[in-house]
Amino acid sequence: MTSRPSLVPLLLLLLALSLAGCRSRTPASAGAPAPAALTSEAAATPEASATPGAAAKPALPTTGSYDWSVPAIFRGHIIGNGKKGFPQKLIAITLDDGPSPSQTPEALRILAKYHVHATFFVVGAYASLRPKLLTREAAEGHCIGIHSYSHLAWSTPAQAAKNIDMTAAVIYQATGKHPTVFRPPYGIVATPKHQNPKMPINNTLTLTARKDGYPVILWSMSSADTSQKILHDSAAIANNVIHTPNPGGAFVLMHDGGGHMSSIKALEQIIPQLQAKGWKFVTIPELLRAWADWMATQASAPAPAAAQPAAVTTPAAAVPAPETPGAAAPTP
Ligand SMILES: [Zn+2]
Repeated sequence: MTSRPSLVPLLLLLLALSLAGCRSRTPASAGAPAPAALTSEAAATPEASATPGAAAKPALPTTGSYDWSVPAIFRGHIIGNGKKGFPQKLIAITLDDGPSPSQTPEALRILAKYHVHATFFVVGAYASLRPKLLTREAAEGHCIGIHSYSHLAWSTPAQAAKNIDMTAAVIYQATGKHPTVFRPPYGIVATPKHQNPKMPINNTLTLTARKDGYPVILWSMSSADTSQKILHDSAAIANNVIHTPNPGGAFVLMHDGGGHMSSIKALEQIIPQLQAKGWKFVTIPELLRAWADWMATQASAPAPAAAQPAAVTTPAAAVPAPETPGAAAPTP
């Protein structure tokens, strides 16, 4: 009996694209235009493509790290610092630029070994090649966020929309879950007034993500794992994370794509050493929800009337104001 290619995967892809588009704008066209040319980073490792849509959507739990929801107060905001005064020792490892066929499985192995959950900011072009890794990430309780489709620094509004929608669609198709967090390539969030006219980098991706309601997640501390000095030095990478002060709940920039196996090996040092110091590893949505819960207690805490002036101002930390990027160095 001869067989012919099934249309089911294609139909599932088109359905996912349509659903993603419906979230915020006109649904993506059925033709799903090809993304802009990949950067050298994103085009580095072509390989045989897995069939998109082949992965069954797992019925996942909806609590704890499986809960990707983010508090409304953070949606559309840029988050680049911890919360001053936040008392819990929470830390969120974020891994960018995957999924990688080598680094990502190793990262998953180490995270599982220590019962730790992380947040993967995936490149859609890679995710579409390796959807089973996304399925596994979600099934093992990790969060998956959008890191664009083609890792563009600069994009037109149309390219930005496609980069976000197509990546969201790939994530949904592999996991059955809609992503809720976004990290721009290179951490670029510059506003137009900061643009260098000679350097056509703008914040179209970030602007689009904010309009779509995604929190734009930068990092409160960097492992500096893209620094040429320590690129292959897992001990130095680990040291940057372990010995950096972490006030207010930390979220750490690392990479599981782009050949960063040293970053993955550093997890073997980072996780047990920080756990021994009382740190709990959480996903980005878990960290944001913990912040929101704490902020709510700060806002509703009764004023110590006798000791305070009559007009007690609202604690600054309870005001959901946009945050500025932290001291984040540009990174791939
Ligand atoms: Zn990146």
